[in-house]
Amino acid sequence: MSWDVSILKSSNWFTRETEEFVKRLVNNFNSGRSVYIVTANIECITYCKNDDEFESICFNADYLIPDGIGALVLLRRYNHSVSERIPGIELAQKVLSEVPPRTRLFLFGGKEYIVKKASEFIKDNYPNIDIAGICSGYKFDTRTIIDDVNESKADILFVALGMPKQEKWIADNLDRLNVKLAIGVGGSFDVWSGTTKRAPGWMKMSGLEWLWRVGLQPFSRVPRFLKSVFLFLQLYFLRR
Ligand code: UDP
Repeated sequence: MSWDVSILKSSNWFTRETEEFVKRLVNNFNSGRSVYIVTANIECITYCKNDDEFESICFNADYLIPDGIGALVLLRRYNHSVSERIPGIELAQKVLSEVPPRTRLFLFGGKEYIVKKASEFIKDNYPNIDIAGICSGYKFDTRTIIDDVNESKADILFVALGMPKQEKWIADNLDRLNVKLAIGVGGSFDVWSGTTKRAPGWMKMSGLEWLWRVGLQPFSRVPRFLKSVFLFLQLYFLRR
């Protein structure tokens, strides 16, 4: 697998430019095409190494944005000009606060009560958002969801199925979805529903939020984390 390609479509992606980026994104909402954003943490970037299909999905998204410090370091190592990371949840929230009134949002993913609570949180905190629909990410039928999203006239689709499911699902189905923007938002519904707490500010600032997440779910996350560290070191030092 070659890493010698531009992983970022937008080479000047800095956190301080988030506002401008989101404004441009929102202003282009009526361009008639669906924009797909992948927010990539270290697991996502290292996962690409073992999955060509997934790698191509990430590389062909409209934007691939480093969500965490590990992804940022790897991207820099491979000479992509990216100076800071943007956590996916913050990008999603920024979009929600910048969109015009009556923007319709569909939430797909998570457990039933979690997606419901997350939608209530968004309704209460983002006055410009109308909830177009919600659907749990367990035992779903893709055709039904596509029909539901299109019938709901959603402008934005947030998909929370975890990596790599959500990225693959969006890439496979984007052509049939009449949305203006689709983002894989990972564990954001868990946070918005109040089920998972985000890391304290100092951890977020120092790029250690991943450590917090590993601590919250050690049984499921420690093996994934160790595998990512191994692949990270391999990619960083061997550049292959
Ligand atoms: N999830 C889902 N269906 C699945 C697997 C996961 O809806 O088949 C949801 C899960 O309930 C959680 C979200 O996807 O709300 C993110 O999962 P995880 O934290 O594992 O993903 P990551 O943040 O690591 O990408």
